[in-house]
Amino acid sequence: MAQPTFPRIAIIGAGPGGLTLARLLQIQGYTPTIFEKEAYPNERSQGGSLDLHPDTGQLAVHRAGLDKQFQAIARYQDEGLRILDKQGTILLEDKEDAERWHPEVDRIELRAMLLTSLTPNSVQWGKALSSVQPTGDGTHTLLFEDGQSEVFDLVVGADGAWSRVRPLLSAASPEYVGQSSIELEIDDVDRQYPHIARLMGRGTILAVSGLKGLVAQRNAHGHIRVYVTLGVKEEEIAALGIDVAQPARTRAQLIALFPDWNPDLLELIRVCNDNMVIRSTYMLPIGHSWDTHPGVTLIGDAAHLMAPTGGQGVNQAMRDAVELAEALGKCSTLEEAIQMYEQSMFVRARWAAELTAEGLDKIISEDAPASTLAFFRKFIKE
Ligand SMILES: Cc1cc2nc3c(=O)[nH]c(=O)nc-3n(C[C@H](O)[C@H](O)[C@H](O)COP(=O)(O)OP(=O)(O)OC[C@H]3O[C@@H](n4cnc5c(N)ncnc54)[C@H](O)[C@@H]3O)c2cc1C
Repeated sequence: MAQPTFPRIAIIGAGPGGLTLARLLQIQGYTPTIFEKEAYPNERSQGGSLDLHPDTGQLAVHRAGLDKQFQAIARYQDEGLRILDKQGTILLEDKEDAERWHPEVDRIELRAMLLTSLTPNSVQWGKALSSVQPTGDGTHTLLFEDGQSEVFDLVVGADGAWSRVRPLLSAASPEYVGQSSIELEIDDVDRQYPHIARLMGRGTILAVSGLKGLVAQRNAHGHIRVYVTLGVKEEEIAALGIDVAQPARTRAQLIALFPDWNPDLLELIRVCNDNMVIRSTYMLPIGHSWDTHPGVTLIGDAAHLMAPTGGQGVNQAMRDAVELAEALGKCSTLEEAIQMYEQSMFVRARWAAELTAEGLDKIISEDAPASTLAFFRKFIKE
């Protein structure tokens, strides 16, 4: 199929992948429509801070012409990492004067930056995709949960872990990876909890022992996100009987899981506010791929959902957007463009997923903190 002069492009999902792609396509003169199931930009807390890497996330920001806007929200000062044991002894920490190259950015601010860069009304909010159906002539019909439908020449699934576009291309489904976290939040740390601010060092701390970990990450505006991470089977998390609607009880239950840990570390649980979320970690199979299908492709988590351990997910999603936009600009047919993008993405995503899986095995492991240190020593200059 030749590339229509003005292909009708649908992007499903206004996450970092979908919004970056929309911006890059608009720069090239395309007019994609983004369909997002959330009713408005801040309907849901967008989650913690993300660090953008030079050849992926930062490259996308640059291609999107948003360097200046990014520098206004990038937190180079928070990219440090400190690894501790359960006694609170610092085992590894990046140097204070280490080169700063992968700044943190709050998701909410990244989303706002990308949204502001788009032409008004590019995103249709409150539009949850239900399924995609081939029409038979190379185009596809999007069926929405509100009963409406619309036909497009190119459908890009940027709709995350539980993509509704993916089933058209692949039978793969995310698999539980043996770790779950309870996400907690601490407000106004510098003023209210200076002892925790000191513990946090220059960004993220990782206190680990065996199959348990406390990961705490500095976000903007004195906010801290804590992930109480457990290497457990999925059913074991349910068996803990944690009910996040009862925060005081949850705090006590979580603290009881760490009986021999230094109380200074457990302050991360004791002082958290009442916003708590249980997150089970899933990944798509490493090397997930499919045969090119005319008129449909996937980017980001929809294509290669990874655990957070490698810090790769958002970076790969934004690099996908760069490569797909580039291929659409270069190729004379949509099919050729999709194929060019996918062949390169499959190789890159496999590498990132392998790194992520290695982190999963080593960060929270029977051998932690020794295995954790071995993993991070490859990246951190002490
Ligand atoms: C706890 C946690 C910590 C993480 N930490 C890091 C990190 O430090 N570094 C890193 O690189 N990555 C991290 N990640 C991964 C990162 O968040 C993802 O890889 C990234 O958000 C993927 O972007 P995306 O645009 O592909 O998908 P998403 O961010 O998931 O966005 C998908 C969008 O699609 C929308 N959507 C879903 N279904 C539909 C539908 N049916 N119809 C319409 N819209 C739909 C969603 O509402 C959402 O807005 C972390 C993930 C988690 C869970």
